[in-house]
Amino acid sequence: MRILVVEDEHRIANSIKKGLELENYAVDVAYTGNEGFDLASTEDYDLILLDLLLPEMDGITLCTNLRKNKIHTPVLILTAKGQIQDKVTGLDSGADDYLTKPFSFEELLARVRALSRRPKTALAEILNVGDLQLNTRLYHTTRGAKQIRLTKKEFSLLEYLMRNAGKILKKDQIVTHVWDYDADILPNTVEVYIKNLRNKIDVPFKNPLIHTVRGFGYKIGGI
Ligand code: CA
Repeated sequence: MRILVVEDEHRIANSIKKGLELENYAVDVAYTGNEGFDLASTEDYDLILLDLLLPEMDGITLCTNLRKNKIHTPVLILTAKGQIQDKVTGLDSGADDYLTKPFSFEELLARVRALSRRPKTALAEILNVGDLQLNTRLYHTTRGAKQIRLTKKEFSLLEYLMRNAGKILKKDQIVTHVWDYDADILPNTVEVYIKNLRNKIDVPFKNPLIHTVRGFGYKIGGI
């Protein structure tokens, strides 16, 4: 899951980024409304966390403009204002949910999970491909009866593959959804991670699940 945080207070923005990254989300930060709008319009995010009082373009305008441009990425508004009217205006502008600052990080995570479970993406918590199972809530991976230990990035990569089981995923699609904007991506980064993943989930077993589609990319399951 890749999340955009639009928040002008650097301290808050950076602590949200850090916290979400610990939960395996890929996170980009924009510190102004314009920057946020540009990123949200050009990059592919699964969720946007949006402050309301921002320099250049306020959160309500940003959200309204996104919806006008047919960008329907779920938006969670983060606002210091607790008044009913701000919440109503936010939701009317096309936002999906709001959270009043100060909030606990636990609550933010719960809302993020809830929004990612919305029908648009319909994210299941337990993913299965053949005898491989990924529990995205407990960060638990098994194949048959064997438990498999993955690094955070391997887990994110496998989750993305499994959420799109049977589909061919291009390398740049994989990079977009698994790594954030500032990550150091080398031309062979995806290959390296796929290889590591195969060593853990495929090599010790009889039938490989990850397939390379020459010239296109990778897919898991559904030969
Ligand atoms: Ca602000």
